[in-house]
Amino acid sequence: MSATVIDGKAVAAEVRERVRLDVEKLEPELGRPPGLATVLVGDDPASAIYVRNKRKASEEAGIRSIHHEPDGGISQEDLIELVEQLNDSEEVDGILVQLPLPDQIDPDAVIESLDPGKDVDGLTPTSAGLLARGQPGLVPCTPQGVMELLRSAGVDPAGKEAVIVGRSTLVGRPLASLLLGADATVTTCHSKTPDLGEVCRRADILVAAAGRPALVTADMVREGATVIDVGTNRTDDGLVGDVDFEAVKEVAGAITPVPGGVGPMTIAMLLANTLRAAEARARSGTQRV
Ligand code: NAD
Repeated sequence: MSATVIDGKAVAAEVRERVRLDVEKLEPELGRPPGLATVLVGDDPASAIYVRNKRKASEEAGIRSIHHEPDGGISQEDLIELVEQLNDSEEVDGILVQLPLPDQIDPDAVIESLDPGKDVDGLTPTSAGLLARGQPGLVPCTPQGVMELLRSAGVDPAGKEAVIVGRSTLVGRPLASLLLGADATVTTCHSKTPDLGEVCRRADILVAAAGRPALVTADMVREGATVIDVGTNRTDDGLVGDVDFEAVKEVAGAITPVPGGVGPMTIAMLLANTLRAAEARARSGTQRV
């Protein structure tokens, strides 16, 4: 039987509408709309599109977009100074520094300069540490989107075998912490895992986040498993994931497509994180009302 296809666009639209309504409620308490600062450095065309989409989605949710686009030759010191100004700004609840950054800048140094309370990408060592310890904090958007998709598909990770292919700080590692926090038994695979198929076949929940087209084939998937494809690969055939979708959907119980699966969730969760950061600031009284 063919798998249920999980509609990421529809789930993302629901999250965005929920955020919009909560932003409406929060605004009187804040005395202003929540603010998301975006910082775009350099002339990477894909980054420019991502930032434009994030800004548009923010405005649609009632979140004020505050955009900075410094010269591509900016020094690391000056970029960190800009981040520190945004850390101190009363109007800014979330800060997103779009990666990658130009070669003269160490991305880790810039990320470490972010106020963890405004770290809506969840990338600072503080956010990563809180997540690894199972404590509340801002969580990276893509893994959070994966958890939301599982919820929407009615898949409770508790007691299930979850296998993640990929161990990046952006996706694989934070997702392992989230699934562990949701009581799954979690295995993280990577490029040095000797028999990937053998490990993947154990999974009730299989998440592919390697950036390798058609890495996950039908023989690697257990009958009825939920398969979430984070991969986003630009090929001659267009945008494809890491999963051989057509073949795997005949084995899996539920599966996300690419595009239209995890992709739309990432922006939706960025808005949710900005709302959370604004609510936390309003509650802690660091906010001028
Ligand atoms: P990355 O390159 O930082 O990490 C890839 C990981 O996959 C590494 O841990 C590596 O060990 C593992 N890997 C690579 N080849 C492998 C193989 N043959 N077998 C097993 N493991 C292998 O990438 P990333 O930033 O985590 O992104 C992964 C994919 O997800 C990319 O395609 C990226 O474009 C996509 N992505 C999508 C979104 C979204 O919003 N949809 C967000 C972030 C990343």
